[in-house]
Amino acid sequence: MIEKIEIRIIKLPLVEHFETSFGRIYEREILLISVFSDGIIAFSESATDKDPLYSYENNATALHILEEYIIPLLFADKIEDPINFKRNCSFIKGHNMAKSAMELALWDLKAKKMGQPLYKIWGGVKNGVISGVSIGIKDSLDELNGIIEKRLEEGYQRIKLKIKPGKDTIILSSMRKMHAGICLSVDCNAAYGIEHAPLFKEMDAYKLLMIEQPLAHDDVYYHSVLQGDIATDICLDESITGMHKASEAIELGSCRVINIKIGRVGGYIEAKEIHDYCASRRIPVWCGGMLESGIGRAFNVALATLPDFTLPNDISETRRYWSKDIIDHEFIIRKGLIEVPQGVGIGVIPDFDFIESIAIYRKNYHH
Ligand SMILES: [Mg+2]
Repeated sequence: MIEKIEIRIIKLPLVEHFETSFGRIYEREILLISVFSDGIIAFSESATDKDPLYSYENNATALHILEEYIIPLLFADKIEDPINFKRNCSFIKGHNMAKSAMELALWDLKAKKMGQPLYKIWGGVKNGVISGVSIGIKDSLDELNGIIEKRLEEGYQRIKLKIKPGKDTIILSSMRKMHAGICLSVDCNAAYGIEHAPLFKEMDAYKLLMIEQPLAHDDVYYHSVLQGDIATDICLDESITGMHKASEAIELGSCRVINIKIGRVGGYIEAKEIHDYCASRRIPVWCGGMLESGIGRAFNVALATLPDFTLPNDISETRRYWSKDIIDHEFIIRKGLIEVPQGVGIGVIPDFDFIESIAIYRKNYHH
């Protein structure tokens, strides 16, 4: 039985700032959950950040939903199993990242109680997952080129460039000239409209692996119009908030690839359902990132061991983001792969002395 839940919010500085079409960030504020049950401690982190830039959720909304609804429900219904948890909290509309944060902690708990690595319980089939890297918008082409060269040397299997209006085709034509054969994709983070269709048509010449989320964060229809118009595969990220949206997008022909993020879709159970559906429709998937700490990265690695995760994932080395991470394990690339931790549960152990030293919020909840 769950006796205690702890929530911490920490402030963790990034090694270098990260710029997308949303803006530039220098640090992440990460909401962490610890669940205590029968002498076992399970962990997770929320995909939310301080500000609601990627979606409407942020740490404040996640904290609100966890404190007012999810934690009282867990204690009242004596829930410990993630499947029961998903069913019992389905009355809460939206707030996928808040729900996912708790569901993931329950998965870690379940795996630890079974004495198994989480990825095995999830049906994972790999010891290593393909690592790609996402590069933020840079001030100059020289700077960007230098970073691409460094990342290729480090062994990343796919380079993804963040773009926004005014910083797109000029960058692409220049990078394609310098790196003709590399596996290259772009992520627009919803920064364009359907009126930019001619620009995306132009991008077909750059032989991109995919164009990620070109149009509005909640759009499915206009993506189908755009996909019908261009040769390059569209990948949806922000728009896919659950199984319903995934099937809607695939039925409409809005995309040919899906980026699965556990937090965005509301937990592993939903992510697995999307994975299975995509596999049945021959739609490849890959695991996206939210600048996670080592705890979130461990869950992403476990997810990416599922069979239909055939494209390079946004799962990079620890040192790409953090000079000091909050776990005892450093994720590194070997031969283009990130190794899957083999310990029980998520297979990594949080460094609580460090976590306490950078915590800006802490609260305990008792049964
Ligand atoms: Mg994206």
